[in-house]
Amino acid sequence: MPDKPRVAVHKFSSCDGCQLAFLNLGEALLEVAQLVDFVHFAEAGAVDPDATVDIAFVEGGISTSDEAARIMRVRERSRWLVTIGACATAGGIQALRNMHDAKAWVAGVYAHPEYVSTLDRVTPIAAAVPVDLELWGCPVNGRQVLAALRSLLYGVAPVQEQDKVCLECKRRGSVCVMVTRGAPCMGPVTRTGCGAICPAFGRDCYACYGPAENSNTASLSRRLEGLGLAPDAVAARFRFINGAAPAFDAAARAASEKTDG
Ligand code: SF4
Ligand code: SF4
Repeated sequence: MPDKPRVAVHKFSSCDGCQLAFLNLGEALLEVAQLVDFVHFAEAGAVDPDATVDIAFVEGGISTSDEAARIMRVRERSRWLVTIGACATAGGIQALRNMHDAKAWVAGVYAHPEYVSTLDRVTPIAAAVPVDLELWGCPVNGRQVLAALRSLLYGVAPVQEQDKVCLECKRRGSVCVMVTRGAPCMGPVTRTGCGAICPAFGRDCYACYGPAENSNTASLSRRLEGLGLAPDAVAARFRFINGAAPAFDAAARAASEKTDG
């Protein structure tokens, strides 16, 4: 029997939630484990961070100089590199520090800031090395991870979901929380992939899957203001999880300028 494809799951600056989404595949993961060798997946047991692999899944952003060097090694040793989650694809929540003086924050929080070795800015993986496929979400959806893995194993180009969450609401017959309750839903500019789970449970989408293709952030900003949000509250909606993604960063800056002006 030929060698099975080798797969690694790497962690950078992150909360481990996307690796958990991977693990939560349950029985499907056991089936995948019969098709591939997980040679590095510390959360599941296998540890060999310098292994040469066919597919490397990467969780987390680049936050330290050690990580900046490590991602280069991962890239050199991987045929395909797939980012999983908001941290890896856009910098994640920790990228909020890019807006301020990170050193001042560290000095304000820690008694011994000299022990903290960190870069001033957090960057997504694609800012450091070429990435073959980006899977968004906080956390990433296990179904998408599995679909990407299957596509790569069988030599098929993975499908990138680019629709807006609103379309997913319509497909599953969910009542629109913005239209019916005036909730400040981010669905009109957010990439689907989650299955529109928040609106299905009566709450507004908070954009954890990042910007959708051709998202009209200016129009949504005006709508959110029309619903009573002050410009700084509109900026906060864009900043939340994927605020360093260019489309959301620009929308947040535009809203903030109204406050400053
Ligand atoms: S994208 Fe969200 S769930 Fe995934 S590692 Fe980052 S913070 Fe955690
Ligand atoms: S609830 Fe949000 S995501 Fe769903 S249709 Fe309304 S605006 Fe779009």
